[in-house]
Amino acid sequence: APYERPSLLRYIDSHLLRAVHLYNKPPDPTAVCPICHIQHNHAPVPTSFLPLVPCGHWVHYRCLVARMSQTIDAAKDKCPVCTTPLVLWDGISALTLATRTGLTLPVGQWNAHHAYRDAATGLWCDSDATEYAADCAVIEATMARCFYAHAHPAAPRCVDGSPRLAAVYYDVLGDLALIQRPRGVWLRWRTYSGFLLFGMLIGLKLRRWLGERQTLVVGTEGWKDFEAGMGALQMRIIAEVEG
Ligand SMILES: [Zn+2]
Ligand SMILES: [Zn+2]
Ligand SMILES: [Zn+2]
Repeated sequence: APYERPSLLRYIDSHLLRAVHLYNKPPDPTAVCPICHIQHNHAPVPTSFLPLVPCGHWVHYRCLVARMSQTIDAAKDKCPVCTTPLVLWDGISALTLATRTGLTLPVGQWNAHHAYRDAATGLWCDSDATEYAADCAVIEATMARCFYAHAHPAAPRCVDGSPRLAAVYYDVLGDLALIQRPRGVWLRWRTYSGFLLFGMLIGLKLRRWLGERQTLVVGTEGWKDFEAGMGALQMRIIAEVEG
């Protein structure tokens, strides 16, 4: 069957693990990593040396993750040796992976003629990092607006009288889709796992915002429904990413 490119996270957490019995056992014991150009067993930071799927070229795990999470450059979703396309790159997967491994995404400074003032926030966007900040500001404002709509006395409530926080969550996702956010590359997705990861990111942001700003809702019926939904989403992500 032809190789179907998975999301970045699925590639790392599922595809590469299929050859785990081969890790650190390259056919040539003096093999050099094609990314860092260091002999595989001399890496300054301990890491596995493993064969890529589907082409079988050998790289350091850490070098591959750094290369793939730190790029917005389409060329780098390919094998560094033979340029076989490996993954469908999406920003949210890279952001998740970077966060997990303690790497940082590149700021991505743009040329002056690509810069613009974001109408929703007034923020000046001249890099992937500033566009991400504008997206985050819009997400926070959207969470507040959706929460207050559901905290309104006339809004439907849970049986204990608490706001329906699971509905707030879905309103936030719906509103963001309507206003075509996120705009920046760090939060964009192209894959189903990317879509699920974005949903989880919004859930984590909403949980933090509620926990800090709306402490009265913590532990209510509405909170428990919302938490149950996040738990179910977590299971879907594990199923999708680990395949
Ligand atoms: Zn390396
Ligand atoms: Zn290759
Ligand atoms: Zn609503």
